Amino acid sequence: MENFKIDVDADGIALVTFDVPGRSMNTLTSSVMKEIPELVERIKTDDAIKGAVITSGKASGFCAGADLGDMAGGVLSGGGDLQKAFDAGWKLNGAFRALETCGKPIAAAINGLALGGGLEFTLAAHYRVVENDNKIQLGLPEIKVGLFPGGGGTQRLTRLVGVQNAMMAMSEGKSFRPNDAKGAGIVHEVVEKGQSVEAAKAWIKGKVESGGKAVQPWDEKSFKLPGGGPYHPAGIQNFMVGNAMLRKQSYGNYPAVVNLMKAVYEGTQVPMDAALRIETRYFIKTLMTPQAQAMIRSLFLSKQELDKGAVRPAGVPKSDPKKVTVIGAGMMGAGIAYVQALAGIETILIDQTQEAADKGKAHVEELLKKRLSRGQLTQEKYDALLGSVTATTDYDLIKGSDLVIEAVFENREIKADVTRRAEAQLAEGAVFGSNTSTLPITGLAEASVRPEDFIGIHFFSPVDKMMLVEIILGEKTGQAAIAKALDYVLKIKKTPIVVNDSRGFYTSRCFSTFLMEGMAMLEEGYGPALIDNVGRMTGMPRGPLEMHDDVALDLSYKIAKQTALDLGDKYVPSEGADIVAKMVEGGRFGRKNGKGFYDYDTKPKTIWKGLSELAPTTKGIDQPEEPTAFAQIDELKTRLLYRQAVEVARCWEEGVIDDPREADLGAILGWGFAPWTGGPISFIDGIGLAKFVETADRLAATYGDRFKVPQLLRDMAAKGETFYGKFSPQKAAA
Ligand code: NAD
Repeated sequence: MENFKIDVDADGIALVTFDVPGRSMNTLTSSVMKEIPELVERIKTDDAIKGAVITSGKASGFCAGADLGDMAGGVLSGGGDLQKAFDAGWKLNGAFRALETCGKPIAAAINGLALGGGLEFTLAAHYRVVENDNKIQLGLPEIKVGLFPGGGGTQRLTRLVGVQNAMMAMSEGKSFRPNDAKGAGIVHEVVEKGQSVEAAKAWIKGKVESGGKAVQPWDEKSFKLPGGGPYHPAGIQNFMVGNAMLRKQSYGNYPAVVNLMKAVYEGTQVPMDAALRIETRYFIKTLMTPQAQAMIRSLFLSKQELDKGAVRPAGVPKSDPKKVTVIGAGMMGAGIAYVQALAGIETILIDQTQEAADKGKAHVEELLKKRLSRGQLTQEKYDALLGSVTATTDYDLIKGSDLVIEAVFENREIKADVTRRAEAQLAEGAVFGSNTSTLPITGLAEASVRPEDFIGIHFFSPVDKMMLVEIILGEKTGQAAIAKALDYVLKIKKTPIVVNDSRGFYTSRCFSTFLMEGMAMLEEGYGPALIDNVGRMTGMPRGPLEMHDDVALDLSYKIAKQTALDLGDKYVPSEGADIVAKMVEGGRFGRKNGKGFYDYDTKPKTIWKGLSELAPTTKGIDQPEEPTAFAQIDELKTRLLYRQAVEVARCWEEGVIDDPREADLGAILGWGFAPWTGGPISFIDGIGLAKFVETADRLAATYGDRFKVPQLLRDMAAKGETFYGKFSPQKAAA
């Protein structure tokens, strides 16, 4: 076997070291999946082996789960054969079952993170020891890519911790730190770092010496499901309440969630062998849904490619930014300083006054302290990271920086002044990046003496949590600057997309259409609660009015004013601009001052009563009326999703974006575009271009030109093309 090494000691305990050659992390590749049955067979049949400890040979972790690229290959490409898929799924599930029923004691020495199929491997052992290291996570996160655990996880975790806890962990993809995993009953023992193999061997030795057979609790006659199964009065509650809760979370958009519940419900009523077959059946069914395929493609495969620099210009030597200056130590600047310090980059944090710079550094300190208290940093590392950030007002300290990022006020003159002062200190070839959220990069670059090194590096708020960074090219931005900006984003472990200059760039521009469609509905007389509920039903994280409050109404108001100034006669006010203006002038700025479409001084928040005067609901459409209620709701959902997708298509035609991977992942990570679709381009492809154009034409005729599709879509529809078929993966091949 190439992925597993077996050493049998004098006591007859086999130490199985899982170590996939040539990879920094173990995953369940097709080669590993092929070898696991062989490994199990050897353990079972070799008389010299009395028991086995399974551990990892990687410093990075035990196993990060299935290699989705390998596993889903055939299915994703559309050549999915149900029987073949089932057989492949069952091969692994069946091998894990053979391991736990081989009669010999098996222990897992978990010396690093174990996620998805990695954790499922260990659940098939009779005993689990994990090392006490808070960097270790144990979890079943498959739901995040539209799947659920298919290596026995739905059955074993449920039998270990009960339906309610298991469903919560699996439906949210939540992971556990070692001590929490022990508390929850997922592992048996937590030991100091480096001690897991020894502890696992000790357990096996005890078991062998006492002559006890190793049997999983669920294979004992006396086994009872913790908390009760479906025919237990308490157990049935879990399914009734659980169903309602899952529906509330997912609005029926994710087949994985429903199939997960079915696998648990049906599986807990039968013995393990049958339960595992039920799981495989539902797993394969889920894997074949368009939702899972689109989510795996965008959230796993494309993400992996972009995270490895798929869109980085080839031919520019790789750079490694060591010192980066951030100017403007406000909310964004401080967040940027934190993420880059964490990545080991020396950081100069500049503001107008020492007090403001110190305040920014205090924010970095607060975030680092959180990591320290969670055990994710040692005191020594904490001190070093905090020490790597210098708060100052002195522009001289910029000298030697590989990159400067400005995050000062959103004002052209201030940004121009900062650009000139920073560039005076920068060596040739160092890059200047602007974190502007609205000002076109080409215009800002006019203040620069070397616009080829000027670029937009757009972070999202809160910087420490949001995974996307949008790189924006000005007209004169050079290839070297793009490569260096990407090297920086990859170093701080965020996902980059590269877009061309446009008002609002890609993400803000398309996201704003979601807010604006909500405003249009408000103007038409739909009730605010209905609008936000429908927004959530589409799969967006929140409704358009709630999200408008989050973004800040005064920001929306300021952007509208600036756009009016910039565009002059060509300016067309967006939907509901009057309502927003009146609200802002009346002191309602959104969530940030507790007053927006909602009042935030109550829990839960309540719709602001005054809204009914500013935007009266129209009788008959404030709530959907029978007999067309469902059709009305569908129409509103369609409007919210199509409006965004049409804007994405326009961006494509204008050359703002040109890679489906970036367009899709940028939309999901940047503004929360309904993940079940795989992103707006997958959404259009999934509906089919002809059908999409037909529906958009109908919407345009009914509601206005904002739904008018670009010519590109008509041409593609006429030729029967798709975006992924025609354009992917464009830049990687270039
Ligand atoms: P902020 O008001 O919190 O911080 C701005 C900081 O810049 C302040 O600390 C201010 O003192 C400092 N500053 C102003 N002029 C300066 C100068 N001449 N020299 C040095 N420092 C100066 O604002 P923010 O929300 O952090 O936004 C900063 C930038 O990031 C803006 O361009 C904004 O559009 C952009 N942005 C904001 C968000 C967001 O959600 N807030 C998201 C993406 C991008």
